[in-house]
Amino acid sequence: MKVVLLSYTRDAERLCAAAARSCYSPDPASKLLEEVEEGKAGRLIDQVVERGHHSVIEHASYTFSLEGVSRSLTHQLVRHRIASYSQQSQRYVPLLEPSYVAPETVRANAEANRVFEKAMENAWEAYRQLATLVPVEDARYVLPNACATNIVVTMNARELWHFFTLRTCRRAQQEIRTAAELMLAEVRKVSPALFKDAGPACLRGKCPEGKLSCGRPRVELKYK
Ligand SMILES: Cc1cc2nc3c(=O)[nH]c(=O)nc-3n(C[C@H](O)[C@H](O)[C@H](O)COP(=O)(O)OP(=O)(O)OC[C@H]3O[C@@H](n4cnc5c(N)ncnc54)[C@H](O)[C@@H]3O)c2cc1C
Repeated sequence: MKVVLLSYTRDAERLCAAAARSCYSPDPASKLLEEVEEGKAGRLIDQVVERGHHSVIEHASYTFSLEGVSRSLTHQLVRHRIASYSQQSQRYVPLLEPSYVAPETVRANAEANRVFEKAMENAWEAYRQLATLVPVEDARYVLPNACATNIVVTMNARELWHFFTLRTCRRAQQEIRTAAELMLAEVRKVSPALFKDAGPACLRGKCPEGKLSCGRPRVELKYK
């Protein structure tokens, strides 16, 4: 898996801070933006966000390319609705060579790996045969969830916060959790004040998972 931050709102923290201040000032945001001091944007954002005024961080957006991930991952990803997506098409891109992602648990278990590889072989054998008989858009029905794909996703900072809370949690499935952690590591590099406390809920307080909790008081992120 490769996660690339393709594009993001420059000066996102000052922008969000100016937007926040514009709610309480007679001055317009264009003037306030000039006045927000570099080191003070984070504190301003914290103050309004703590009061539940989360919409101010919607002005910052981030676009990622997720490459070589499974269709299983992208199916979970696109359940997040406050986002924009562009995914490699299985109608227009024939996938004649096997290209798939095996979960870590399968790779770590020789017997599971054998069963998995056999299933992939069979799936692609059927796909190649069908592709000679029907359009690839119909042949693709036999391709597995493991099938590799590329997807571009854009989310604003508010939705990313929500996404990170759910998907960096140990309850999230391993592949999407890895993607979420890599995405969080990327946005922390460019907008550290906006994302310093983002991550699973246990980093900020009580685990909301109840009986399903992993039982660890505070989850350590693998990618930082
Ligand atoms: C560990 C885990 C297990 C899961 N298991 C399953 C499962 O078994 N089956 C399954 O179907 N899904 C499952 N999901 C997916 C889950 O139910 C959500 O669809 C997914 O996480 C997207 O999150 P969301 O709906 O909160 O937010 P997003 O779509 O990211 O939206 C963000 C927020 O916007 C608001 N919002 C968005 N759209 C609406 C709307 N139409 N009406 C009102 N408010 C809205 C909500 O406050 C929402 O939290 C699972 C997710 C996780 C993390």
